[in-house]
Amino acid sequence: MPIDATLPYDDTNIFARILRGEIPSTRVYEDAFALAFHDIAPQAPTHLLVIPKGRYVSWDDFAAKADDAEIAGFVRAVGHVAREAGLVEPGYRLLANIGGHGHQEVPHLHVHIFGGRQLGAMLPR
Ligand code: AMP
Repeated sequence: MPIDATLPYDDTNIFARILRGEIPSTRVYEDAFALAFHDIAPQAPTHLLVIPKGRYVSWDDFAAKADDAEIAGFVRAVGHVAREAGLVEPGYRLLANIGGHGHQEVPHLHVHIFGGRQLGAMLPR
């Protein structure tokens, strides 16, 4: 069920719990600003999630409220994780689902990194 991305941040969401170490995840990268881990239901041979450590629901929430160091750190982390996963040469896709029409299910900003196969057209027609 998609979430309403205009709602306040919910500290009980599953990615907040992963950040606090309350539930397990298969971590591939962590720094002061970001955490990256494998998606639990992969939709491509490589399917990673990168999340900022701060309490942000969506991209626009993050863009409006995060400070410059958080934004730079998160963007750099996404690039670092893609590079370390060996995706730069074959190519890959970044995706951030936001709110109802974006079919966002977890109300903590996350960027999906897909790779490892030809990913086809951008959106289903
Ligand atoms: P969305 O909010 O639609 O961008 O998608 C949320 C993503 O989080 C889905 O791809 C889920 O498979 C993934 N997901 C949900 N719970 C977990 C979890 N505990 N560990 C890793 N990935 C998860």
